[in-house]
Amino acid sequence: MTDSFDTRLIHAGTWPSDLEGAVVMPIFQTAMYRDPVSEGDGDAEPRYIRYSNTPSHSYLQGKLAELLGAEDAIVTGSGMAAISAGLLSTLEAGDRVLVQRGVYGGTHTFVTRHLPRWGIEVALVDATDPGTWAAELTETTRAIYVESISNPTMRVAALDEVVAFAGQHGLVSVIDNTFATPVNFRPMEHGFDLELHSATKYLNGHSDLVAGVLAGRKPLVRGALETLRGLGGSLDPNGCFLLDRGLKTLALRVRQQNDTALALARALAVHPAIEAVHYPGLETHPDHERATRLFEGYGGMLALEVAGGADAAKAFQAALRLPVIAPSLGGVESLVTRPVTTSHRTIPREERIQMGVTDNLVRVSVGIEGTDDLVEDFRQALR
Ligand SMILES: *Cc1c(COP(=O)(O)O)cnc(C)c1O
Repeated sequence: MTDSFDTRLIHAGTWPSDLEGAVVMPIFQTAMYRDPVSEGDGDAEPRYIRYSNTPSHSYLQGKLAELLGAEDAIVTGSGMAAISAGLLSTLEAGDRVLVQRGVYGGTHTFVTRHLPRWGIEVALVDATDPGTWAAELTETTRAIYVESISNPTMRVAALDEVVAFAGQHGLVSVIDNTFATPVNFRPMEHGFDLELHSATKYLNGHSDLVAGVLAGRKPLVRGALETLRGLGGSLDPNGCFLLDRGLKTLALRVRQQNDTALALARALAVHPAIEAVHYPGLETHPDHERATRLFEGYGGMLALEVAGGADAAKAFQAALRLPVIAPSLGGVESLVTRPVTTSHRTIPREERIQMGVTDNLVRVSVGIEGTDDLVEDFRQALR
């Protein structure tokens, strides 16, 4: 019998040895280890933090593989380290990759500015419209890259269709599952080849760490590890410890965030000072049916369009008592941000509006404060 996801969050992962009876995996704050060959282990590779093979790494990576239902997993020094290592190890000069239009800003910059410099061609596709993908396919297409929920309008890609399309055409299917989290969606169970996370967000969940996770089919993860070692994007032992600690409460946090986000979205959807609420849990969201079919919860992220334009949106943010005005997401404290001033700052206005990023759009990352307190705070701020 396999343990539930909740139980695996606490107990998955095997320690290297007895460790003096410690209940929690200690921090192995040492960069180097004695040469294993001189210690009598002829096959062992040297251990070193940058190689991501210290006891801290081995334990946490084993735990993550078990948790995500993946053949293998690695942790990285940031979400972008996981994304860059995953893409650079999967693709080579002359290859083409299909990427969802409107992915995370850092990813968008990496695929549109960096990959072409190394001879990799990028085609942006509408991930919610599978009928449009075949037209972008060429002999050299190697991979398709999507996000489970896109920022900031919370569109849900046609995820099962991505896996089927990749299977049909021999592509590697890659998903950034940061927004949905493995509590709400587990890509490995749906047949994705590679799953990526900015563990900075929900996996750690306490806004005090930058880290990433890459998991999936063993040869792909091993390839990414080789590339990661070359790029130097490893996670330090203290980061491994923090991520392990954060992970243990992932399910509790995310379920609370699911519930509060839905309550908040419903309350605001009928509020006269709100023009639109973007949340896949609302019946009015274009991907509501798909999200309901695929996800166990709709997540803790939503976006609002405040009536009265940019000034009203600014005033509304300032009037909120509980949420902090800050970019990023996935922590225990609620955050609000106007994507116009942060994630979508550099995108030309016309293109930005076409993506649904209007001047009065406020993105909300729901924390684990009391649901009623948050709903009331949003109501008073709108008054
Ligand atoms: C934040 C984020 C990233 C980048 O992660 P870092 O940890 O900041 O490098 C990638 N994808 C998504 C969806 C994100 O939200």
